[in-house]
Amino acid sequence: MSRAIVSLNAGSSSIKFALFVLTGDGPSRVAAGKLEGVGTAPHLVARDLNGDVLVDRTWDGGADLDHEALLQDLFAWAGAHLEGREIVGLGHRVVHGGGRFTAPVRVDDQVLTALDAFCPLAPLHQPHNLAAIRAIQTLAPDLPQVACFDTAFHHQMPEIATRFALPRALHDKGVRRYGFHGLSYDYIARTLGQIDPDLARGRVIMAHLGNGASLCAMHDGKSLDTTMGFTALDGLVMGTRCGAVDPGVVLHLLSQEGMSIAEVERLLYTQSGLLGVSGVSSDMRTLHQSQDPRAAEAIDLFAWRVAREVGGLISSLAGLDGLVFTAGIGENDPAIRALICQRLAWAGIVIEPAANQANAALISTPASKVAVRVMATDEERMIALQTISTLGLNAQGRAP
Ligand code: ADP
Repeated sequence: MSRAIVSLNAGSSSIKFALFVLTGDGPSRVAAGKLEGVGTAPHLVARDLNGDVLVDRTWDGGADLDHEALLQDLFAWAGAHLEGREIVGLGHRVVHGGGRFTAPVRVDDQVLTALDAFCPLAPLHQPHNLAAIRAIQTLAPDLPQVACFDTAFHHQMPEIATRFALPRALHDKGVRRYGFHGLSYDYIARTLGQIDPDLARGRVIMAHLGNGASLCAMHDGKSLDTTMGFTALDGLVMGTRCGAVDPGVVLHLLSQEGMSIAEVERLLYTQSGLLGVSGVSSDMRTLHQSQDPRAAEAIDLFAWRVAREVGGLISSLAGLDGLVFTAGIGENDPAIRALICQRLAWAGIVIEPAANQANAALISTPASKVAVRVMATDEERMIALQTISTLGLNAQGRAP
């Protein structure tokens, strides 16, 4: 009987998941989907590799169902879909591993308690990640679970890249730059190592441009600097998150605009970014279609800030050999890539318009001083790979 791994990414109102069968040739995805509307109107959709819908389900009285009840139904569906294949591990995306967890870890009660301590560092994400782990502990107490961290890829950043210019005591309490999107960056780094090993050993900036967006400066496969810091708010303009703002703005909102902490939090996380600037949408595709000049301004600001931060990271790396675009916008949006690369012509970046338009794997010209690549990220697969290696499983999913 073949075996299977499940990867889960549990947020406040949605749970993304993927099922992988272990064929002896690496994990092979057989289904992926999303359970949205947790707490309001839950809706489960899963598709196979061809994009065909495997399940499309809603629940009567679904608003009353919590994560645990819904995970139970999701598990029942996954078990049936896997047709008797045994689930031998479940990997979770966990946003914060703090300074302690620098690699994925098998979860036990001690680990969970340690991870609870990082909830104040990521209050909008971490509690939901951990709630899903606890729910699975109840549903399937013997199933090994692995926490895979968004912060871990950055743990080797040099000390100077982790510091804010705040009093040392705060740094020692954990108020420092961690960096996020580590599962995506780890996946891109490993894949780049396979398709272009020379470039992977060089100085590369990875641009994860999705609803959340950040850059990672990588040298010889290791993160050296990144645009997200203490939280996933910092750095680039995002769908609804502000990116870097003068911290004085926050003080102003609290002291002069009379906003509460909860209101400021909502503003910075959910009402800013592309949505806040455009007043139209947080979705890049919608902005491209809009005639509203504010939408064009939001697009320009997005590209301007990416190029500006790339400039900063070129300094951290002392040069640049490669630029990799990934995630929803990075993989699919030639217009944004062109805007960013035009702004970076000073760094010797030249792209080939036809290749860019076609979302080709390599979009730079032979004369470009920097290789510019487009690569599909796969955080679910990275979670599956980390789960397999953390549990010490072989390619068939057996413990040696
Ligand atoms: P996340 O996983 O962070 O929620 P994604 O990586 O799916 O986000 O990225 C979502 C963004 O990618 C949206 O702004 C969306 O408009 C953009 N996007 C997705 N597909 C395309 C496409 N084909 N062309 C342009 N933009 C796209």
